[in-house]
Amino acid sequence: MSESSATASFADFKLNKQLLMAVAEAGFEQPTPVQEQTIPLLLAGHDVLGIAQTGTGKTAAFGLPLLMKVKYAQGTHPRALVLAPTRELAMQLETHLKRLATYTDLRIFAIYGGLGPKTQIETIAQGVDILIATPGRLLELYLQGDLILKELKTLVLDEADKMMDMGFMPQIRRVLEVIPRKRQNVLFSATMPDKVAKLSEEFLEFPVRVEVTPAATSAQTVSQSLYRVPNFLTKINLLDYLLLDWDTFHRVMIFCRTKEHAENITGFLTRKVVGEARAIHGNKGQNARINAMEAFRNGELRFLVATDVAARGIDVPQVSHVINFDVPLVYDDYVHRIGRTGRATHTGAAITFANDAELHHMEQIAKLIHQEIPELLLPPEVKVMPTTFEEQQGMAREIDERRRRQDPDFQGAFHEKKTPLQKDVDKRTGLPYVEGPNRSQKGNKKRPSPGKSQSPAAKAAAKLRGSRRK
Ligand code: AMP
Repeated sequence: MSESSATASFADFKLNKQLLMAVAEAGFEQPTPVQEQTIPLLLAGHDVLGIAQTGTGKTAAFGLPLLMKVKYAQGTHPRALVLAPTRELAMQLETHLKRLATYTDLRIFAIYGGLGPKTQIETIAQGVDILIATPGRLLELYLQGDLILKELKTLVLDEADKMMDMGFMPQIRRVLEVIPRKRQNVLFSATMPDKVAKLSEEFLEFPVRVEVTPAATSAQTVSQSLYRVPNFLTKINLLDYLLLDWDTFHRVMIFCRTKEHAENITGFLTRKVVGEARAIHGNKGQNARINAMEAFRNGELRFLVATDVAARGIDVPQVSHVINFDVPLVYDDYVHRIGRTGRATHTGAAITFANDAELHHMEQIAKLIHQEIPELLLPPEVKVMPTTFEEQQGMAREIDERRRRQDPDFQGAFHEKKTPLQKDVDKRTGLPYVEGPNRSQKGNKKRPSPGKSQSPAAKAAAKLRGSRRK
């Protein structure tokens, strides 16, 4: 919250009575900083480039002026279009805008893929004032003549960085070609990589930039911490230990990298407490995802396990904790993940589990968000499990690949075909290889003291053992 927000109120904006009533009913007492800055600009007709992450109140920041402008139901064709990267975000935007439009007769409707288009086409034919859409479905319906876009007077692009990441640029260009030129434009993005900056130059006209936090700065209201955890099974043990504290961890989102992890974690949680956990990921059908989200939202579920793409745009107020079971490889996703807790005026906590290979990514993330993420020692109650051979190989491979990218001359400690014993042992001497500065480019290996394994993963493991002893 900015300091000035203490004095601002929604009544200071020239919003109509219907909107002020809905704002009060939603429980918004004061505008958030992004609302305070954006609402007057949009009401005055400017284009706005907003850098704000989920959880800052950005939806109402562009939504309230939009509802003010479109005002009441009129004609058949949409007069405003909000583009969103995922169906979850599209659905969330629809819910949020409808809530703010409760006391108007505006027809707000979201279209997205994953469902047959028939019902969507029928609804559009009955008349829509504000259309929310994912780019693919929008173009599909437009190209087959089910959607007329010539009445558009406002275009909002939400989560533009994610749109670029997901490869929607060609679709967005195509949309820009077919909609009226004279219109008001809004672009919101959590971060401002070059691709988004370029896009904003292409389609915003003399925009005013609103930035509530520096790009990729994580929500100030979220307390963050990190555990070094050597492997999957130990991560499960740590999760088990943390979740014993039922009162504290009462509504938890658990993020992981893969569908397999999502399923395994959900299976584990379900065995512990029946009916309290569900997973959402790319292999889940649309209905399963919607149901899981709803159950989590209304408190039937204590845990929602999610992959990044599936979780994007989900609006779950008052999540007590975000647990990053795996570290995201797309660093911006960290910001999005932790934005699920500490939303708007609530405080929250984000806890990350990182194995040896993932620690590097956490360092990069800490740099990106300009914040230190304090490391906590594994509680002694958490049983440390041995790392399986496959997992060890996976981590070693990841570390090697990264080192090779950093230094093309790096020889690599990981060799696919060797057994773990052979990997670290010099066949001639029967002693472990030495790596690092003493080892020449040609692969001369100096002898270390016997018994000291020097592979990167082993080094990290030794470091880890050391830190745990402290
Ligand atoms: P958003 O960043 O738009 O996804 O909003 C995040 C959450 O903050 C949503 O649950 C909103 O309902 C809530 N919110 C938005 N504006 C306010 C406000 N002025 N006061 C309190 N909560 C808000």
